Amino acid sequence: MRSFIEQHLPKDLAGPQDEEMNDPEREALIKSWRQRLGAQGWIAPHWPKQYGGAGLSPEEQFIFNEEMATARAPQVGGMGVQMIGPTLIMYGTDEQKAEHLPKITSGEVQWAQGYSEPGAGSDLASLQTRAVKDGDDYVLNGQKIWSSGAHRADWMFMLARTDPDAPKHRGISMLLVDMKSPGISVQPLIDMSGRHYFNQEFFDNVRVPVSNRVGEENRGWYVGATLLDFERSNIASSIGLRHQVNDLITFASEAAKSGSVPVNLNSSLKAELAERAIEADVCKLISYRIISMQKRGQVPNHEASMNKNFRSEAGQRLAQTGMKVIGMYGNIYNDGPLAPLKGRLSRQYLASVAATIAAGTSEINRNVIATRGLGLPRG
Ligand SMILES: Cc1cc2nc3c(=O)[nH]c(=O)nc-3n(C[C@H](O)[C@H](O)[C@H](O)COP(=O)(O)OP(=O)(O)OC[C@H]3O[C@@H](n4cnc5c(N)ncnc54)[C@H](O)[C@@H]3O)c2cc1C
Repeated sequence: MRSFIEQHLPKDLAGPQDEEMNDPEREALIKSWRQRLGAQGWIAPHWPKQYGGAGLSPEEQFIFNEEMATARAPQVGGMGVQMIGPTLIMYGTDEQKAEHLPKITSGEVQWAQGYSEPGAGSDLASLQTRAVKDGDDYVLNGQKIWSSGAHRADWMFMLARTDPDAPKHRGISMLLVDMKSPGISVQPLIDMSGRHYFNQEFFDNVRVPVSNRVGEENRGWYVGATLLDFERSNIASSIGLRHQVNDLITFASEAAKSGSVPVNLNSSLKAELAERAIEADVCKLISYRIISMQKRGQVPNHEASMNKNFRSEAGQRLAQTGMKVIGMYGNIYNDGPLAPLKGRLSRQYLASVAATIAAGTSEINRNVIATRGLGLPRG
């Protein structure tokens, strides 16, 4: 793996990651890197070979991710590999698997997630986008919001209401929607760090073949919940956290020595940095727990919520520590000459706010841990 990375990872990609900066040159490099990985079966290395993966065990996959993170290679699989692929392997029809899985593992197709709506986030089951059966199609009307990467997506997996009269969890189905279908408009939403990361979409009489439904009609809530477990089990990013801590420590100690940028590195901040390093190691241990479950064929549930909360909150604490280290220079979040680390710390700080909202807020994940993990009664 190391020699493959050495040979094929474009040098301009092998650095600290500054994701979603909408840089076309970087995107072109990522595309060629994705194709090289795809040819090896390494976009979804843990998937069975029959679906275009490399058949790696969960431990091998973790080592794979560690090597990728050590080389600072960008993650390329996206929601196809992380979320809808494993869900289709569990619930998809043979036709759906044959159509979609190879295009995910070859890196040809990008996916977006259409769960949230303006009136349905934490209370996702109250979603209102309607899918009404008409012959061999569903006709889709409604709105989705906060859809990460939908402006680049070829397909969207979506939860839509197929029975408005049933209790709210029992009238929902999961659909696979081709983003080129007539009647879909995608509008950008710019976040507070200036990134175009997420979007809102409007669906106006969009026709979706009934054969694009995943699982039974009106049972989509349960399919969608399994997908969330896959989303929250993401262990790859826990490895990256340790690299971010190391980058900050290296930067702070070098700057303190050279005086290139004034940094605060008093004993209390040194202790904070040590805590951040310990937290990154805790994240790694939580990942081992997830892996040991996956190895036994289980889908982590409250453990996935634990992973998601600890990782996102540790990332926020790290971003705050970084801001304390660079002090007033943290106000510069472009990549101008005065910006420490080209403004990356400041942008990470702004972006980290969303981490405890995306993929279910910390409060909602704590509810999962409380009820399903600890067996506490619902509040
Ligand atoms: C960066 C980012 C990327 C995202 N990407 C996607 C995507 O690709 N696809 C997609 O579908 N969605 C996406 N989302 C949306 C995300 O899933 C929702 O924002 C999230 O579920 C919260 O829903 P909401 O924004 O409606 O907030 P609300 O549900 O209105 O919550 C507001 C506040 O109330 C609290 N709260 C609500 N209910 C409870 C409760 N029962 N107990 C305790 N506290 C509660 C919440 O914790 C929160 O603090 C993304 C969001 C972000 C920030």
